[in-house]
Amino acid sequence: MNMLHQQDPAKKKRLKRPYFVVLLLLLFGIGFFVGKSYSAEELLSASSESSTMPETVEQPDEPSDVPEIVEEPKESTPPPESSVDAESEGTEPIAEEQPAKKVVYLTFDDGPSNWTEQFLDVLQQHGVKATFFMQGGNLKKQHLQESVNRAVQEGHYIGGHSMTHNYRKLYTEHQFVPEMIETLNLIQEITGETSHLVRAPYGSAPGLKEEQMRTQLANAHIKIWDWTIDSKDWELASNPSQIVRNIQNGTTSDREVILMHEKKQTLEVLPRVIQYLKEQGYEFMVYEDTNHFMLNFQNDARL
Ligand SMILES: [Zn+2]
Repeated sequence: MNMLHQQDPAKKKRLKRPYFVVLLLLLFGIGFFVGKSYSAEELLSASSESSTMPETVEQPDEPSDVPEIVEEPKESTPPPESSVDAESEGTEPIAEEQPAKKVVYLTFDDGPSNWTEQFLDVLQQHGVKATFFMQGGNLKKQHLQESVNRAVQEGHYIGGHSMTHNYRKLYTEHQFVPEMIETLNLIQEITGETSHLVRAPYGSAPGLKEEQMRTQLANAHIKIWDWTIDSKDWELASNPSQIVRNIQNGTTSDREVILMHEKKQTLEVLPRVIQYLKEQGYEFMVYEDTNHFMLNFQNDARL
């Protein structure tokens, strides 16, 4: 209807065409501006999204940066620990591992005996290897030799403990080295194993205070081991629990060598001794000729 009225005046048509053009231009312009404004909003929203997106996009970066910053503190905080880590890491390849690792050597003197088999049973049950110092007089008893061979087969070490165990003969009469050589030869005859370690009856002090006997030992390539803990088991037949307490009280360092004997009371408490040492984090070691360390009361580095 309006179109019909408007179509009547041609001038108006001519006049209105420019208006239409202007209106169209205005509409385009508005549309453009609106579009722009939308696009601006979109841009804003997009920027806000992109600010979130970039955040989410950057967040992965930032989180990755943050974790790096978080990890870096971990790396920077470890340094206080890293001094410990560095030590523990440094100790692994080097020999410093020994102080970090707690090791214990169980040693049993005066065998072989009628108890040897049962000692081996207990050690086997607990997966523990031990070091035995045996007497020549007992090694000669044929019915005990099977136990000596079993000990070797099960990974235990058999060292020498003299032929006579007699203080006067060994030290006063200077028979220590000849007796030890005879004992070690006997062990080799029975087991086929060549041992170089002995334990001096009653300890190397004061018996081996004379340097001459120690030189004789060194020349014979014989090493001697005393101990770090005396369980005093031999005198505790009526009070076996005291053996455990003696060992508990004596356990102070990362490497212990415990003196025990093939006695009934010792056999009785051996599982408790092993359990205690395991609880304390000790690893059970057996003596090896190739891994010798000095342990004698004379502090003779040759032995
Ligand atoms: Zn002895």
